[in-house]
Amino acid sequence: MQLFISDLHLAAERPEATEKFIAFLEGKARGAQALYVLGDLFEYWIGDDDLDEPFNAVVIGFFAALTRAGTALYLMHGNRDLLIGERFCRATGGKLLPDPSVIELGGEPTLLMHGDTLCTDDHDYQAWRRTAHSAEFQRGFLAKSLDERRAAVHVMRDRSKAVVKAKAAEIMDVNDGAVREALRKHGVRRLIHGHTHRQGRHELQVDGRRCERWVLPDWYGRGGYLEADGTRLRFRLFD
Ligand code: MN
Repeated sequence: MQLFISDLHLAAERPEATEKFIAFLEGKARGAQALYVLGDLFEYWIGDDDLDEPFNAVVIGFFAALTRAGTALYLMHGNRDLLIGERFCRATGGKLLPDPSVIELGGEPTLLMHGDTLCTDDHDYQAWRRTAHSAEFQRGFLAKSLDERRAAVHVMRDRSKAVVKAKAAEIMDVNDGAVREALRKHGVRRLIHGHTHRQGRHELQVDGRRCERWVLPDWYGRGGYLEADGTRLRFRLFD
């Protein structure tokens, strides 16, 4: 069995999500073959030199216990935690997965993405994404002290909240053409992604082939995960 989660946005200020996360890692995820985290595990991640911060250390400890118990852990960057790196992986026993990646799932090649690159109608966001992913920006950011980085992230979060509120909802969803292009380019019939916080399963035809797109739930409301058991996929939301 493989499990997929994303958009937990874990932070010390969100204890409900953290409690669900711990219960999930100690419960359902134990005994799973693999756990895939498709981005935005954290509300923000300011660099692997912040591993020892108490909240981060707790999260890392639970992941480490999971991988020691035999579940493979794969991590994809989201837009909130794109600075997760090799030290985080060593500490947790996880492996970074490039975005996009194709894996075999119950015999079906399946495309995994965080999902933000599919939101091509949001031009401001895409411009910011290019900046955030540039080596120059990341070097500059990581050169700051942890306190400076934390303060900078809080400013960015407040600004992003205001921007998101003012934006039309459709702009922040995936672009249909971008979804089709991704499925076509990778020659797959199935896509799993997060980011939009619009959990659901969508069917579409691409070049005469029936395709499906699974959008993972965020962990602001009930939270939950996607479970792949053999060839069967299904959402499981928490009570
Ligand atoms: Mn995201």
